[in-house]
Amino acid sequence: MKKGYVIAIDGPAASGKSTTARMLARKLKYIYIDTGAMYRACALCALQRKIDLEDENSLEKMLQDIKIEIKYAEQGNRIYLNGDDVTARIREADITRLSSRIAVIGIVREKMVELQRKMGAQGGVIMDGRDIGTVVFPDADFKFFMTAGVKVRARRRWEEAVAKGEELNIKDVEKELIWRDQNDTNREHSPLRKADDAMEIDTTSLSVEEQVECLLNQIRERENA
Ligand code: C5P
Repeated sequence: MKKGYVIAIDGPAASGKSTTARMLARKLKYIYIDTGAMYRACALCALQRKIDLEDENSLEKMLQDIKIEIKYAEQGNRIYLNGDDVTARIREADITRLSSRIAVIGIVREKMVELQRKMGAQGGVIMDGRDIGTVVFPDADFKFFMTAGVKVRARRRWEEAVAKGEELNIKDVEKELIWRDQNDTNREHSPLRKADDAMEIDTTSLSVEEQVECLLNQIRERENA
């Protein structure tokens, strides 16, 4: 396979993007960038500094010197915020909700998009998020939009949480997903939507291996065309 592609994967929460992107990156020896983790790190930074999300001046100051790093690790990438490893903390429920709230703010998105474009500039990268194919890399070599029914997505998230020892009610998980999807889809700046030239993949009844294979086939097909 040719090296150096930019591969964009977008879609709603728990649609299978991250797992597929991570596995595909491993197969292709590409860099994987989880842009959701960057919004989560931003949210954590605002929380640590007790910044009111309405207060643009304080947010702007925060964004001027925020340092978000994604470092490769065999067990999965680690996320650092201003030098601290925040990989586990940014997955907690308060940050999940706050990340979707902070992601509606224009100056936050501008900063994240700037960082993401720098990270992906060399190619050989798989980036997943909500606006990669539409805004961050509208000229990406490959664009995928992953979807799945809300019940299946809630179950996946619930199973992940249970595996980590968290006690959650699956109905609450579903409600939270619906809230986040609506917030992400209806915001003014870079709402969650499929790029016109993205290929939609419904993962409702696909295993992770099948999802990865589906993307790989598309890439191979285009290369051989
Ligand atoms: O992908 P993940 O669920 O970790 O993303 C957390 C939140 O970050 C999303 O609900 C969304 O509001 C925001 N996000 C975004 N644009 C991206 C990636 C994530 O707005 N490219």
